[in-house]
Amino acid sequence: MSLLDVRDLTVTYGTDTPALRGVDLALAAGEKLGVAGESGCGKSTLALALLRLLPASARLGGRVLLDGEDVLTMGWGRLRAVRWAGASIVFQGAMHALNAVHRVGDQIAEPLLVHRLATAATARERVAALLEQVGLPPARARAYPHELSGGQRQRVMIAMALACEPRLIVADEPTTALDVMIQAQILRLIERLVAEQGIALMMISHDLSVLADTCDRLAVMYAGRVVEEGPARAVYAAARHPYARALSAAFPRVGDPASRFAPRGLPGDPPDPAALPPGCAFHPRCPVAVEACASHEPPLAEAAPGHRSACLFPAGRPA
Ligand code: ADP
Repeated sequence: MSLLDVRDLTVTYGTDTPALRGVDLALAAGEKLGVAGESGCGKSTLALALLRLLPASARLGGRVLLDGEDVLTMGWGRLRAVRWAGASIVFQGAMHALNAVHRVGDQIAEPLLVHRLATAATARERVAALLEQVGLPPARARAYPHELSGGQRQRVMIAMALACEPRLIVADEPTTALDVMIQAQILRLIERLVAEQGIALMMISHDLSVLADTCDRLAVMYAGRVVEEGPARAVYAAARHPYARALSAAFPRVGDPASRFAPRGLPGDPPDPAALPPGCAFHPRCPVAVEACASHEPPLAEAAPGHRSACLFPAGRPA
């Protein structure tokens, strides 16, 4: 059984903004899945939906099975127990996620105390050990967030995410706000810690090359759907879906800062979810679209063993 099994997940903001439109994804224990796509494709909505952290305006459908238990229907008490201890999230830009007026050590200790995994007396030792794991001197526990660099704050976020020994960590653009050198250090740190502790990782990024370098499998999202999913190498080097091909061509180098915001060579922007084009949502930007693409939205179907694609022509357009 998968550790995480997302089935036909839909999220609609308000009445007319379908941010996720039937997402199916599975993640085995200890596996690393990368989720890529341009800004606005629904990646953060997916991350937040997994732990029901979405705003009240969001309506959810489908299932999010964590160890076989549906996160979307569990009671509040159970949900509180699952957050941090079952699965935890590392966000982009730790400055906003950390509380500016509390010492970082106290913030790392908080989930431990809430989940009764430490007492006030033992929490200090555990916090020191966690800081060491993420490469920070234990004395930094007394620092306030503004006294740390961006990279150090992201290390603190990772320590918090690890604190309750979750089986799944969701990392949403964990390195995007950092410069390229620090980005690489933080990625290696996350990679090492999840491998050592057998934690499953869902890492979200707009940058397919960063994910290809770190993850076992990759999923590419477009307009609220997964349009390609498969082994990392195959998706990065031999993508089936024209959007996935455009994304991998847009990021030739790991962490290329120039291609941080707009994939090169791909005209236009992803559609507004409130005004999706008919048929395949990518067809207005697709270099190989044919007439049928404007009326038919292909399902995500197996294109090769373990490799799924949602294109009418998963093997390339016929001549
Ligand atoms: P990504 O993480 O890929 O950039 P998001 O999940 O943030 O994408 O956004 C997906 C879509 O949902 C976007 O069109 C965005 O404008 C919309 N959206 C995100 N959050 C909200 C919200 N709280 N209310 C309404 N629409 C939202």
